[in-house]
Amino acid sequence: MDNLTREDQFSKAFSPYGNRLDTTNDPNIMDLRIKCQQTISQYSSLDIYFDFIDNEAVNAIATKFEGSYFIGIYVGTIKVFGYLARKIASHPKTLFDFGNPSMETNFSKVYNAIIKNANHIIEDDPPAWPATDERQKLCILIYQQSILNILFHEIAHIVNGHIDYVQLLNIGYLEEVQNGKSNLSQMRSLDIQTLEIDADGSSALRTLQELWAIFDSDEDNFKCILHDYRSLFKLWSFVRFMCWRVMENSYVGQDLLGITHPPTAIRHDFTRIACIDLVKGRNAMLIEEYEISMALGVSATDEAFKFLSEIDPITPPLSKQLSILQKTHGAMIFAHWDFLRNQLLEFATDYLKEPNIYNDDNESFELQNAYKQLISHLKAQ
Ligand SMILES: [Zn+2]
Repeated sequence: MDNLTREDQFSKAFSPYGNRLDTTNDPNIMDLRIKCQQTISQYSSLDIYFDFIDNEAVNAIATKFEGSYFIGIYVGTIKVFGYLARKIASHPKTLFDFGNPSMETNFSKVYNAIIKNANHIIEDDPPAWPATDERQKLCILIYQQSILNILFHEIAHIVNGHIDYVQLLNIGYLEEVQNGKSNLSQMRSLDIQTLEIDADGSSALRTLQELWAIFDSDEDNFKCILHDYRSLFKLWSFVRFMCWRVMENSYVGQDLLGITHPPTAIRHDFTRIACIDLVKGRNAMLIEEYEISMALGVSATDEAFKFLSEIDPITPPLSKQLSILQKTHGAMIFAHWDFLRNQLLEFATDYLKEPNIYNDDNESFELQNAYKQLISHLKAQ
């Protein structure tokens, strides 16, 4: 047992989901794997092994196996988001305020652009690729942000103590796309949805910080795309909404209390709130710009999927304004959040030798304060 390599452990841990992807013949994906592992070490001192799972579906999973942490992203996720980034950036009407879209000529549609499996990709001939340098940079940013969004979310599942916590409840994995109907009790479903919102909050902060660093940097590389705050927030919001749309389960007719992930609109709403303090901390004057850009990003995502699809791919009514049902659901998650976070704090203090996010290093301080403010703000409403 002792001489299993981390690769072997990874394969064993994720064997119900697929084999570890052999990247030896694909330098791009090998490079991406190294970058993901580096990102993990930048943001956590925990020993977390990262790799790809050889599965064409869109999904990502975190677990703890034989005492070590693992994150697996299905390779289908990389392919689908790469494809979408290329399609979106090479279409003249999507994100039309980024670069010079009038030079783009790719109008070709697919039946439904919300693709959840790389086997469903229908490549154009030649494959979609933006015509201008600026739109190529847009494509790169969309792609990078979508991968980071998922990666930071998985890191948060580990670093914020979620995995340790759910394993005490005999739940072995946290996976992003729910397969089939869950047998979760209503309470357990609320637990998991709350953890998802928590992971989204961390991921939202991190992806925004990453994009903001590019925006702030003196290098002119991406200035043509991120030219003002509105473009910064809008692109960030666009990518996150796109990710959740693709990873969203079908909620129509389902009991919202039996699912593992809250509907996209609710996730987005919590994300918006989770990052308000970060924006305020940078520049309080930006809040209005931030709110407007978030809304613009969301509508741009829905629009983009419509431009790329032959049908209207967005299923009403959950994609529109939050319904009363969703609002109530959001409030339940929120009430549960408060309760669950206390439990997690207790758990971290009592059981974990190295209480991760709840250590008072800078990162957790920032997050904890953001949560505290958020909770008191919402309670006051
Ligand atoms: Zn998750």
